[in-house]
Amino acid sequence: MGLNKKSVDDINVNGKKVLVRCDFNVPLKEGKITDENRLVAALPTIKKLVADGGRIILCSHLGKPKGEPKPELSLAPVAVRLSELLGQEVKFVASPVVVDDSVKAAVDAMKDGEIILLENTRYRAEETKNGEAFSKDLASLAEVFVNDAFGTAHRAHCSNVGVTEYIDTCVVGYLMQKEIDFLGNAVETPVRPFVAILGGAKVADKLNVISNLLEKCDTLIIGGGMAYTFLKAKGLEVGTSLVDDTKIDYCREMMEKAEKLGKKLLLPIDTTIAAEFPSPIDAEIAVEVVPSDAIPADKMGLDIGTETAKLYADAVKSAKTVVWNGPMGVFENPILAKGTIAVAKSLAETDATTIIGGGDSAAAVNQLGFGDKMSHISTGGGASLEFLEGKELPGVAAANDK
Ligand code: AMP
Repeated sequence: MGLNKKSVDDINVNGKKVLVRCDFNVPLKEGKITDENRLVAALPTIKKLVADGGRIILCSHLGKPKGEPKPELSLAPVAVRLSELLGQEVKFVASPVVVDDSVKAAVDAMKDGEIILLENTRYRAEETKNGEAFSKDLASLAEVFVNDAFGTAHRAHCSNVGVTEYIDTCVVGYLMQKEIDFLGNAVETPVRPFVAILGGAKVADKLNVISNLLEKCDTLIIGGGMAYTFLKAKGLEVGTSLVDDTKIDYCREMMEKAEKLGKKLLLPIDTTIAAEFPSPIDAEIAVEVVPSDAIPADKMGLDIGTETAKLYADAVKSAKTVVWNGPMGVFENPILAKGTIAVAKSLAETDATTIIGGGDSAAAVNQLGFGDKMSHISTGGGASLEFLEGKELPGVAAANDK
């Protein structure tokens, strides 16, 4: 497909002030960054702009401070770690309102190739409402805007969409380009067979993804909590498993759609059951594997079974393109992570193009040490899902066309 948007390769930023929206929404524990993948993913664009002699003003949100300063959600630790990763100072300009006169003075004093980082954009209440005042504040800092924040591309906020109304030159960065190229090619022009794997908790969260992927893929694999609504729709007893009774008709429709289109829709043929949901989530738990048509009324399905894991791994083996979003079971518990691990392993072992939608499946793949075996791990969970739904992402649409 290729992205028809101008990128950092299409502009000259020498001597110019460049506002760069990154996705520095990293997990923090006691002020320490526990997963820096998103920082590492942002480096190519930043380095390119530095090399071109731009004056780089970085911005991002972090967590949900809900429109007011929250010290524990300050981007200060990100500035420190980014400086180390870049081998160059990233000056943190902390303002409780993100942009004020002191920030403007700091920007005016910048030299070519220097980098500053603004405070958490969600310290401002307007940010998530795409309010005009904050969009203008941000735009007042720069002559060029670069959006490299794929993780928020499905939202229209000040720092990724509003700001583009007040700056003429708006382009995407390398990370955004890479995300869209991988996801876009996989969905629109996949090398076949194309296998899509969906898991996670609820059917309701993935209605449009299921429907859209059924049209694009050759085989759709369903696992995780979602699977039980499908099994119930087939008329099976699913015990106390997670089921959305309002979506049973929908699941039936999807099974009919698959048949009509001649697509394979794979559901668990066996399932790992327990008496109840583990509490705490990683508690030791007694489990049993039963065929999917033999789930007792008082038991709960919490992972795919061993035969299903083999069936899914075989489907992956015969694929040339695989897209995966969502765990196959309650993978936070080692006893219930086996299905997710088996699927991750099958992706790690294939030569096919393997694309991991962000969120839990990305975390699972990285935790298992399979990260570098995948063709692409998306940095955006919600954004990659909306992309797989076939929706246009407002953060991408706002950039200048080629
Ligand atoms: P999602 O955010 O939709 O990707 O869902 C991820 C969550 O689904 C994880 O926290 C899993 O523990 C949960 N999950 C996966 N399989 C099941 C299941 N069979 N029953 C309940 N929750 C599940």
